[in-house]
Amino acid sequence: MMTIDNYKFAGKKAIVRVDFNVPLDENGKIADDTRIRGAVPTLKHILAEGGALIIMSHMGKPKGKPAAKYSLGQIKDAVAAALGVPEVKFAPDCAKAKEAADALKAGEVLLLENLRFYPEEEGKPVGIDKEDPAYEAAKKEMKARQKDFAKVLASYADCYVMDAFGTAHRKHASTAVIADYFDADNKMLGYLMEKEVKAVDSVLSDIKRPFIAIMGGSKVSSKIGIIENLLGKVDKLILCGGMTYTFAKAHGGEIGESIVEMDKLDVALGVEELAKKNGVELVMAPDAIIADNFANDANTKVAPSNAIPAGWQGLDAGPEAQKRFAEAIKGCKTILWNGPAGVFEFDNFCGGSRAIGMAIAEATANGAFSLIGGGDSVACVNKFGLADKVSYISTGGGALLEAIEGKVLPGIAAIKGE
Ligand code: AMP
Repeated sequence: MMTIDNYKFAGKKAIVRVDFNVPLDENGKIADDTRIRGAVPTLKHILAEGGALIIMSHMGKPKGKPAAKYSLGQIKDAVAAALGVPEVKFAPDCAKAKEAADALKAGEVLLLENLRFYPEEEGKPVGIDKEDPAYEAAKKEMKARQKDFAKVLASYADCYVMDAFGTAHRKHASTAVIADYFDADNKMLGYLMEKEVKAVDSVLSDIKRPFIAIMGGSKVSSKIGIIENLLGKVDKLILCGGMTYTFAKAHGGEIGESIVEMDKLDVALGVEELAKKNGVELVMAPDAIIADNFANDANTKVAPSNAIPAGWQGLDAGPEAQKRFAEAIKGCKTILWNGPAGVFEFDNFCGGSRAIGMAIAEATANGAFSLIGGGDSVACVNKFGLADKVSYISTGGGALLEAIEGKVLPGIAAIKGE
């Protein structure tokens, strides 16, 4: 397999798939540039070796149509600053950038407009229901269009570099299909991909025990696959955040207006059963900080997670829960954290996530390997100033979890020719 260190970029044009899906604030300013910083080593290396760069990415979910608020034009200057170049040229239509790409000289950078302004990028038919009898035909047609779209992107460059770990679990035009249009010597993984794959390996091969996973976030349904998978690997599992109340409800608890998935009560009970069967210590919040409104300035009090009065909702882990989480994390040697323990975006409901972050930092100082993944947990770690106190911060959420599940990511398989 070709590697970025072995490839001779001098005089070549490289098209690089990065993950610049950064959060923007209401003024279009970048709220967290972790993902841009993540891609910098690959991009700078290519420029330093005398190559020209064509950078492509998606941002947000424009659903196959141009939308100004998702334009990558907004981050052009930030990319130039991150790369230390005077200018980043911008191609306002990613599928019509041949001329701009041809004109690129060594050391120059061209950023393509958001790939997802075209439905071909994701390759899913739009405006047609899955139940529609015509769906299969539409899907086939879109797959053909996806290939054409990938071929156009490939025509801009001499080589392809895949460095978007955050989307490596998707078989999209720019993350996987495009690789078919380059021979094995002209496609490779970037440094970020190499680093992320290594971090997953350090968790999975030679696991130092005890191994704890902390899974939070809003719902159990979106994480059930990884939760079940982790139950075969970890010694302890903390389940926190909004999913707490689906578990409490499954046992007949009172949860007031807390977030709940009524159709997943049996799933929650199944998780508990599997944990017991596998001898995994399951840690959940016995108490909650409850609020009379979904707002930072709501009135609050502490209540058992299964005795929340009507009109109130659990928005964070309570003080006893925070203590138990910290205790469970203490002394662990491998730690995986994905998803917050509460509505951490509100300062008054970030205590549970902070307690987890601090305990992870302490365990890391005592020799644990800690891996933090998923936009929200990464935002937590940054918010609490703990970024340099954990072992590795992944730029991937879904991709990280799929890699930990042991799935082969399409973005990697495409490069390896699998
Ligand atoms: P997810 O996208 O499923 O990983 O969930 C992340 C989101 O879960 C964050 O935006 C949190 O604000 C939210 N969240 C965490 N705990 C709660 C809770 N108790 N009630 C409502 N939302 C929550």
